[in-house]
Amino acid sequence: MVETFPITTYFMLLFLFLSFLVSTLGEPKLSTNCRSSKLQNPVYQNRKLQNLDIISKLRDDHDAIKLASSDYGNMVHEIPASILYPTSINDIETLIKFAHNNSAPFTIAARGQGHSVRGQAMARNGVVVNMRSLKNHRNGFGITVSETPSMGFFYADVGGEQLWIDVLNATLEHGLAPASFTDYLYLTVGGTLSNAGISGQTFRYGPQISNVYEMDVITGEGDFVTCSPEKNRKLFYAVLGGLGQFGIIVRARIALEPAPKRVKWVRMLYNDFSAFTKDQESLISLNGRKQNNALNYLEGLLLMDKGTPENWRSTFFPLSDHSRIISLVTKYGIIYCIEVAKYYDDYTLNSVDKELQVLFEGLSFIPGFTFEKDISYIDFLNRVQSGEQKLQSQGLWDIPHPWLNLFVPKSHISDFNSIVFKDIVLKRNITTGLVLVYPMNRNKWDDRMSAVIPDEDVFYTIGFLHGSGFNDWETIDLQNKDILQSCYNAGVEVKQYLPNYKTMEDWKNHFGMKWRTFQERKAQFDPKMILSPGQRIFNNN
Ligand code: FAD
Repeated sequence: MVETFPITTYFMLLFLFLSFLVSTLGEPKLSTNCRSSKLQNPVYQNRKLQNLDIISKLRDDHDAIKLASSDYGNMVHEIPASILYPTSINDIETLIKFAHNNSAPFTIAARGQGHSVRGQAMARNGVVVNMRSLKNHRNGFGITVSETPSMGFFYADVGGEQLWIDVLNATLEHGLAPASFTDYLYLTVGGTLSNAGISGQTFRYGPQISNVYEMDVITGEGDFVTCSPEKNRKLFYAVLGGLGQFGIIVRARIALEPAPKRVKWVRMLYNDFSAFTKDQESLISLNGRKQNNALNYLEGLLLMDKGTPENWRSTFFPLSDHSRIISLVTKYGIIYCIEVAKYYDDYTLNSVDKELQVLFEGLSFIPGFTFEKDISYIDFLNRVQSGEQKLQSQGLWDIPHPWLNLFVPKSHISDFNSIVFKDIVLKRNITTGLVLVYPMNRNKWDDRMSAVIPDEDVFYTIGFLHGSGFNDWETIDLQNKDILQSCYNAGVEVKQYLPNYKTMEDWKNHFGMKWRTFQERKAQFDPKMILSPGQRIFNNN
């Protein structure tokens, strides 16, 4: 499906684009009048004279630049030359082809929701593709659900620009849903598949990247390629967890399962870390996809705030229990909380409680400190949205977010508790957010994919999901650096999830055995190193 363009078109685009990039190159910072040269800009002067559709879809106005040079992290700001608002997949192909064939190729970053925290979806002096713009031009085919029970499986074909919440709502109309989610659903399919997409379902169903049958990708050479484990498999495995380095995902075929109706959502408190992890590991050992007595979701979190046991993402504990939970936190410093969910429907309504009872037998939580909620499936999956709405209304959603996400091998999780939770986080007491701790099974991941995980059968994800004041995020960031350094000093081999490194050497260490393959894939699919420069892997100066 590689489209060819007349050579004259290329030359015209080349001239217009170069003039355009030159006019904006090196712009020092965003200001309200930063686009004041627009009338002199040859692109706009010539717009009516030429017939190149893509030019009319490039924006360099203040609002477009402001959006493309910021993200959820609100710590990194890179100004692009322009932003493409595509109305078709062809627009993206044209742009990438043009950049690739240019004697001075410019960089291109797909931007989903911009919910990265370190500028990963930005492109300094390059072009940002606002993927969400595609959503309005799919003619009703942004999310299509295929029900072919005779084939034994269900799937949805979804645009890379679609939000997971929209995928969920569309599939629920058919009584189906993806099996693996992120905690927060207002993220794009392309954005999470470029990382992994993890949550409490991962221990059983794998990350979101393990739940994809096929994709359409536009490579760094501008080629439209359909890939799957059977067809163009090298590209398929490269792109999943590939940090946007090999192509822009414009369609993904996502595995679906019959959707349940309701959820038993339970939290249990621990004051002993080894009891907490032992129970988590025991609960995730029951993990067959078809093993109906297994849990559907398991996470864990730290309670350290002596003011409230709740966090920004969800309110869970009954108000009447707050004071006794706070007393526990005051007494022990850190309380560990296991959070699990078991889905049910009309058929399992009468057995779900019994199944949970069996699963909880022999667990070592503090007696009297289990809490249960019964909510609808959609409310459970969308549980973070109310937290977002609250923060938005308080003007606290756009604060800096110096997040740090790590994967820690099971063999080091106890060291991690002493070195990091107790000796750094608890002692410094500057945590202003949520800390997640939960295990996953390596066999639910596919090592052929680009995503990097520790080399142990069970490993933990640790999420320091901090928020900060506008001027003090560096203090938290310093703590993040100390956490990484302390792990390194103690020989605790951690891998970053949503990784952020500054040097090629660090990236090499991150990828370890996979580095060579990663480099080879880059040379094959994006030889001019055009795509996702904000990851700073191949464009790290
Ligand atoms: P962007 O930030 O827009 O892009 C991320 C990267 O992917 C960039 O390099 C970009 O160039 C590239 N990219 C974007 N779209 C495409 C595409 N179509 N094709 C190829 N490359 C593309 N992650 C989890 O795994 N689990 C969670 O539970 C979770 N919860 C979160 C909660 C919140 C509130 C936030 C802010 C983030 C959370 N994340 C979570 C992290 C999130 O998955 C990543 O930040 C993800 O990249 C965000 O998706 P996005 O659509 O905003 O991507």
